[in-house]
Amino acid sequence: MRNTRDTKLIFDLSRPGCRGAVLPECDVPASDASVLLPAGMLATAPPALPEVTEPQVVRHFVNLSQLNMSVDTHFYPLGSCTMKYNPKRNERAAAMPGFAEVHPYQPDETKQGMLEMLFEMQEILKEISGLEACSLQPAAGAHGELAALLVAAAYFKDMGEDHRRKVLVPDNAHGTNPASAAMAGFDTVTVKTNLDGGVDMDDFHAKLDDDIAVFMITNPNTVGIFESHMRKLADEVHARGGLIYLDGANMNAILGITRPGDFGADMQHYNPHKTFSGPHGGGGPGAGPICVVEKLAPYLPGPVVAKSETTHDGETDAYYSLVTPEKSIGKMRAFFGNTGVLLRAYCYIRTHGPQGLREVSENAVLNANYLLARVKHFLPVPQGDRCMHEFVATASKLKSERGISAMDIAKRLLDFGFHAPTVYFPLTVKESIMIEPTETESKDTLDAFAEVLFRITEEDPGILQDAPHTTRVSRPNEVAAARNPCLACM
Ligand SMILES: *Cc1c(COP(=O)(O)O)cnc(C)c1O
Repeated sequence: MRNTRDTKLIFDLSRPGCRGAVLPECDVPASDASVLLPAGMLATAPPALPEVTEPQVVRHFVNLSQLNMSVDTHFYPLGSCTMKYNPKRNERAAAMPGFAEVHPYQPDETKQGMLEMLFEMQEILKEISGLEACSLQPAAGAHGELAALLVAAAYFKDMGEDHRRKVLVPDNAHGTNPASAAMAGFDTVTVKTNLDGGVDMDDFHAKLDDDIAVFMITNPNTVGIFESHMRKLADEVHARGGLIYLDGANMNAILGITRPGDFGADMQHYNPHKTFSGPHGGGGPGAGPICVVEKLAPYLPGPVVAKSETTHDGETDAYYSLVTPEKSIGKMRAFFGNTGVLLRAYCYIRTHGPQGLREVSENAVLNANYLLARVKHFLPVPQGDRCMHEFVATASKLKSERGISAMDIAKRLLDFGFHAPTVYFPLTVKESIMIEPTETESKDTLDAFAEVLFRITEEDPGILQDAPHTTRVSRPNEVAAARNPCLACM
């Protein structure tokens, strides 16, 4: 049954004179607005706003919000995106007035609490990555990729090595990797991966030369496999004078188990909104802090937070200030990072502690392997019997034998109250279905999901091809919906 909740346009509810709030009479003299603004820029009539009561506004927006699936309402196994539960205690921390009401232009001495939190976050992220310096500036993972590549470009220029124009990217990488390389002015060269999901060493050797600037690698990679040649790849890139960039979107698989700095990375980004439980989806908000090795620290985007200590009468006082690294590439955004997102991540990290973070990754990997074991009999997983925190199944056989595509399965899952997994990414697996359960789901949920998935693969193809049957909108043209959005159509 389609969702028939009342979702009339708020303008249709408007009744002249209806009010949600009544403002007091204006007690400042109404100055002649045309003295302040040119006449042509002044409105001649009030805007046509809907006239409605407060409950009508609340119901309208709450009903709209419930047309979508979310982590708070449904299991959301969207591979690559790490849609884990967003603990509500993070929200309480972020809402504390000392954080929520601080203004970035306040003098540093009046926002020491915020700066201390950001400084500690830099230290924590350095420790988790095994790298030596951190900038919290970038506003998303992709933005962190761009920032780090600009750092690399500035470093090579400084070293007199700006002939290094080549960025190697495996063919199963996230689309943001080659896009960031191009935006930073590099030439992207694609490296093939094997059937087992790892980098094809022959192709890597064919493409590695003295023009290499950066090898961008995701590890574990987008098919959920830990790159078995990681150390060798890093050593060979370093021997040619290049740098290793680690796309840190999959950190949820390795927290406290291994560190990118220890397996050869020179720079990495984090996605705190994925790994560290920040709410995300619908395009934001996010953060994309980056960590780098010592030699790249002077180029980091600024400001970063520095700590100084003074001792008097045997007492040590810490003072936090904003500083710009010596050869900084500049700002990537206004002020000092998406502090609200960083604060939620900080709260999450401090809640778990080092041992707890390790358990997060162990359980994320355990949950993914459990689901893999339940699913592979009816949805083959080409990359094998074991995975890290996610795996990629294929509907290839179902498609050729019964005309059921990955998209049909994804859409049909919505009818059963499950958000769809990621489909058609990575591009190296045909009819791919990328499943990432995360550690925050129970065995009961994983079992229910596996059973529904099995039931769907046995269904009549006709039912699947028309799915979903229960949602307000069935199958929008996704390209047209993105290019010509009609935000009032329902
Ligand atoms: C999510 C993701 C990114 C991009 O991160 P955003 O925060 O969405 O910009 C990059 N690489 C991989 C593998 C990802 O999953």
